[in-house]
Amino acid sequence: MIKIKKPEEIAQMRIAGRVTAEVLDIMREAVRPGITTGELDRLAEEHIRRNNGIPAFKNYRPGSDMTPFPGTICASVNDEVVHGIPDFSRVLEEGDIISVDVGAYVSGWCGDAACTYPVGEISPERKRLLEVTEDSLNRAIAQALAGNTLGDIGHAVEGYVVPLGYGVVRDYTGHGIGRKMHEAPQIPNFGKAGQGMTLKAGMTIAIEPMIMSGREDVRVGANGWTVLTVDGSDAAHFERTVAVLEDGPEILTKWQSFR
Ligand code: MG
Repeated sequence: MIKIKKPEEIAQMRIAGRVTAEVLDIMREAVRPGITTGELDRLAEEHIRRNNGIPAFKNYRPGSDMTPFPGTICASVNDEVVHGIPDFSRVLEEGDIISVDVGAYVSGWCGDAACTYPVGEISPERKRLLEVTEDSLNRAIAQALAGNTLGDIGHAVEGYVVPLGYGVVRDYTGHGIGRKMHEAPQIPNFGKAGQGMTLKAGMTIAIEPMIMSGREDVRVGANGWTVLTVDGSDAAHFERTVAVLEDGPEILTKWQSFR
């Protein structure tokens, strides 16, 4: 069931969204050659708890066959697409790209956001992947209008990145968000304009294109969590929590661009 949020509920989500976005702004400053993904995770958890929040990913367990997720952030490097496990032995190197995904509950409401950052100087190809993926998110958000459809959002991503030669992850999608991190509906990053469910004012959704420079196939790594590209190509992931309002979309996780 789709939960339509009242204005006072969206006001609560604005607070959760702000704390979540602030974590990414901290990441933007902290990401550099030599830092570990475990240290980034520690900084993220510290900020959320200092703001009376609860890390949404920590101990998250979507299925009984899965181990609880151990981190506050997902830290996915280079060919890792999403759900990378932060680790004090994983040292970032000059030229890497790292996708940081973070979620936080504040006063019982959830924010969810992700951004891919360059580690020091990166190749022009990696820089372009980051720019295209961030641009695809902004194009999708522009379609998050009452009366538009989920297909309009998916098409905004797919119709932009595929002609440029990039691949769209099909197995993972964005989602409704509110009192729970994952609510209905699913928000695919592909689709046909005008098709699918119609968006209504008061819906709150997490839009999160996951784009790769190579083939679209992904696999889950040996730890049971980390999703990687099958062909070893690079991947980027940008996400914002968005409220669909009468007068247009409002971004609830307003992190600063990596640019
Ligand atoms: Mg999400």
